[in-house]
Amino acid sequence: MTIPLNADLHCHSVVSDGTLTPEELAARAHAGGVALWALTDHDEIGGQHRAAAAANALGMDYLTGVEISVTFADTTVHIVGLGFDADDAQLAQGLADTRGGRGGRAQEIAHQLAGAGIPGAYEGALRYAGNPELISRTHFARFLVETGACHDTAEVFRRYLTEGKPGFVPHRWATLGNAVRWITEAGGMAVIAHPARYKFSANEEYALFTEFKQHGGLGVEVVTGSHTPAEYPVYAAMAREFGLAASRGSDFHSPDESHVDLGALPPLPSGLTPVWEQLAGRIQRA
Ligand code: AMP
Ligand code: MN
Ligand code: MN
Ligand code: MN
Repeated sequence: MTIPLNADLHCHSVVSDGTLTPEELAARAHAGGVALWALTDHDEIGGQHRAAAAANALGMDYLTGVEISVTFADTTVHIVGLGFDADDAQLAQGLADTRGGRGGRAQEIAHQLAGAGIPGAYEGALRYAGNPELISRTHFARFLVETGACHDTAEVFRRYLTEGKPGFVPHRWATLGNAVRWITEAGGMAVIAHPARYKFSANEEYALFTEFKQHGGLGVEVVTGSHTPAEYPVYAAMAREFGLAASRGSDFHSPDESHVDLGALPPLPSGLTPVWEQLAGRIQRA
């Protein structure tokens, strides 16, 4: 029996909404037994060269990564890109445009929170943002824990920042077609991130997978820290039905907040094509 490759192809650093540097994440992935790693910051690839260098220095293989925010059917969907050229100009511009609205959105979030009795949230969140261009709801969540408004970030997302709650500001991100195209034309593979998270009807989910394929998307996350174990076989079946390769990644953000550590997930269910088999030529070998 062959031992499955310990690939962890989804996590976040201080370049977006994680709390560790790319180098600290590389060391943690290595300690967790990861053999093939990708850093997938939200809408930003500024950490890629550091991550690849740190991974290779530790003997880990590396795939470039990103997690692009997309609006599909009035819902925020995340598309992971893997194995692209990190110096591609069109991808860089697309990501810069996608990041562009975050500052104004953050001001509006803070305005709503002030109305709910929590002043100073913009400045508070900004202190947690390692990259001010990438100010995100996660940074607001950390500030709300700091002020004592909530016990942990999970409670923040139950009481604030989500639809119908104070601090929810609807936002239009990249289109599905553009996100897939930026990744694909930069030589990479587009992958639907954590599909179980989207609260879609069956019809909407079918439309997402169908349109994603039509745009040239090739993969879907099956085993992710953002799925329950019961969801793995559901999305394994979707991968088979749509002829998509399967990915695996912890979605690790922080030692204090993430319940799944780098490299700690179970292997992909059998009978799936792992994304790394199709990306073999794109792997930066140690
Ligand atoms: P943003 O891109 O600013 O909308 O922030 C989205 C980020 O917030 C995600 O990438 C997660 O890190 C975090 N997040 C969203 N929903 C939750 C939740 N229910 N619990 C914990 N973190 C969440
Ligand atoms: Mn995040
Ligand atoms: Mn995500
Ligand atoms: Mn993520």
